[in-house]
Amino acid sequence: MTERKTITPTHRYRNNDKLIGIGNEFWDMSERNGLAGIVADLDAGSGVLRATEGHEFIAEGHEFVNFSCCSYLDLDSHPEVIEGGIDAMRRYGVLDHCIARSRVQIPAMRELETSLGELFGAQVVCSIAASTATFGLLPLIASGHLGNGTRPLMIFDRNAHVSMAGLKPVCADETEVVTSRHHDLDFIEDMCKKYAKVAYVCDGSDSLGGYAPVKELAELQDKYGLLVYYDDSHSLSAYGERGVGYVRTHSPVQDERTITVVTLNKAFGTSGAAIVLDGQSKKTLRVIERFGGALNYSQLLNTASVGASLASAQIHRTGELTTLQNRLYANIELFDSLVRTEQAGSTFPIRLVPMSDATVIEAGRRVIEAGFYVSPVFFPIVARGTAGLRVMMRAGQTEQQIRDLCDVLVEVGAEAAAPLSGEAVL
Ligand SMILES: *Cc1c(COP(=O)(O)O)cnc(C)c1O
Repeated sequence: MTERKTITPTHRYRNNDKLIGIGNEFWDMSERNGLAGIVADLDAGSGVLRATEGHEFIAEGHEFVNFSCCSYLDLDSHPEVIEGGIDAMRRYGVLDHCIARSRVQIPAMRELETSLGELFGAQVVCSIAASTATFGLLPLIASGHLGNGTRPLMIFDRNAHVSMAGLKPVCADETEVVTSRHHDLDFIEDMCKKYAKVAYVCDGSDSLGGYAPVKELAELQDKYGLLVYYDDSHSLSAYGERGVGYVRTHSPVQDERTITVVTLNKAFGTSGAAIVLDGQSKKTLRVIERFGGALNYSQLLNTASVGASLASAQIHRTGELTTLQNRLYANIELFDSLVRTEQAGSTFPIRLVPMSDATVIEAGRRVIEAGFYVSPVFFPIVARGTAGLRVMMRAGQTEQQIRDLCDVLVEVGAEAAAPLSGEAVL
């Protein structure tokens, strides 16, 4: 037999050897220390989790409060959201009538799109996940079919969430793709001067705090027709009037030059995602529906998800949303008064208590032993040298829980090799 070929990849946009080679060791270490691979029952009433499987460090039955859950307003267990899911199942009498929506659809998801459209004051197309929406939309932007017909240079922000960054090789088959430094407005403007059309892809709100420079980007949108694709999953519900999120609250450009996708799985408390559009023609909406990848060939949001989302949208229209947001902000403020982090002072619900790579796992273990779960984060989840314990605040956490957690964080922070930035912990 002649010698068979092996393949040398180009790795222009992704590299699993690197990703898994570095990342998997940390996941294994997390799991060995009882900080990943956890199975636990949730008592929705108290928000307390109870491990259902034993571990060398974490005993079966060990109780802990989750300080790493993205349901920032605790809407995921809200009685009206639960009832909404059940009610929609009864009303429609089917969970998922599986056929491409471009052929036949039951009106469930359209009911939600109408409701969310009213909430955002926009055109809304739903999908089963923000990742699925991005998978469908970015290639259409790359080819100019979602836009003015000109293929844009596509600039991906280097910190763009993996659900967007993972589409680089696909987009690169349709147009030119480059990666920019984080929020590099000068670079974006330079490219706008060079290329007939430019599209910029970034998070509206970063997973470690910080928001996109929507006003500055709007100037470029006005001056050069820049198209901006925002994933604002992290700020939906937790931010803005009626919870419309950061981008929708602050971006002055609300027309076909701004496309925003948001997950409904985080603070919104349900399941699925919304694509928020303005000024798109019926023809373009049809192209999205027919050629947006999984938006056409995958299932629709099932009726339970639709019903839960209708109920959550209803809560967003009432004063209860403001009450929940204010409770969240008060909890964040309490945390900030006890543990100093770089994110202190923002209304964004995530805080990073920095630690060195060497100490972060042990610190996380001490925290869960004390009855709280926080996520140790590390490369490649975050950049090298920026490891730490990621803490997520929610409206439903009690003052006592927050004070007790902060006591432990101060203790482990003081012992960690890398003291907290500047003044260490208070
Ligand atoms: C969490 C998150 C997602 C994932 O959303 P799905 O709807 O589960 O796909 C996507 N983008 C960003 C920015 C996120 O933070």
